[in-house]
Amino acid sequence: MPYESLPRYSLGFFPTPLVKLTRLTERLSGPRIFMKRDDQTGLALGGNKVRKLEFLVGEALANGCDTLITGGAAQSNHCRQTAAAAAACGLSCHLVLGGQAPSIPEGNLLLDQLFGAVIHWTGELRKGERIPEIAESLRSAGRKPYVVPYGGSNTTGAAGFVEAVRELTHQLSRLGESVTHIVFASSSGGTQAGLTVGRSLFGLNCQLIGIGIDKGASGDVPFAEHVLRLANATAERLRVSDRFSASDLAVREEYLGDGYGKVGDLERHAIHLVAQTEGILLDPVYTGRAMGGLIDMIEHGEFSREHSVLFWHTGGTPALFPYARDLIEGESARR
Ligand SMILES: *Cc1c(COP(=O)(O)O)cnc(C)c1O
Repeated sequence: MPYESLPRYSLGFFPTPLVKLTRLTERLSGPRIFMKRDDQTGLALGGNKVRKLEFLVGEALANGCDTLITGGAAQSNHCRQTAAAAAACGLSCHLVLGGQAPSIPEGNLLLDQLFGAVIHWTGELRKGERIPEIAESLRSAGRKPYVVPYGGSNTTGAAGFVEAVRELTHQLSRLGESVTHIVFASSSGGTQAGLTVGRSLFGLNCQLIGIGIDKGASGDVPFAEHVLRLANATAERLRVSDRFSASDLAVREEYLGDGYGKVGDLERHAIHLVAQTEGILLDPVYTGRAMGGLIDMIEHGEFSREHSVLFWHTGGTPALFPYARDLIEGESARR
């Protein structure tokens, strides 16, 4: 069905701001840079998952479910936003998290607990591998769980980013602006799949460049192939006639560094630079890495001054605090 007909539950504040980063453009002697502020989606310190959750929670409520269950890493932004969404519409929430319970919860994990989520620790498994088993035990206890997939990335969640493209095209036309490229962190693929479908549905003429964040994000399937399948499944479900091929999907995987959640010079430098030139906070796991990639591409001459690049800020800032040590290291020496 068309995406406007899908059940949707309002959770965030939209449209999110679209801002111009003129000081960063000047500092990098680069293309014009815009930023879409999805760190300001309004629910529980913001982030891109709020867009997906409006459709996922809409579906859960339409199906008469009483519990949301999802999983991720201990500092998962997706889990924190899901816990808040559950609280906001009166559902219970179970989170299946990688790692062990720390003595004092920090960052996103602290917020999960404030929102009243029940946490199941699963050690090495950080992608919700035990969700089916926990959902089954909730069912035998008489609950009606709704499984929110890893990262909220299925065709329902991706609809949130189809809608996001509609929002963006309105903002751009109101400002009389256009963009040639959109750069963003890509990890479970729903954001990129939704943007891909939305771009073709709303005729947005620009290149999408996903910066890969997590090497093993899609299991055995290469990540670009995973996003491609999700984009085509989303288009089919939402009755968008276009289908996509590998050439429609750019995923840059050269910025993976030491792996998921590991802060290196690339992320550290990007976070300090954007904070100090624009007063805007990025996050250590996703947007710091994606912005590091954008800065590197600008420094290597991939964009000219005639280009207009939109960086989609996907959130994640609550994870800054548990990463304090990694963010300060080496930076004092540089200044
Ligand atoms: C989940 C997340 C992403 C990646 O979005 P996907 O749809 O999973 O690819 C990017 N940035 C932040 C801050 C996130 O929490």
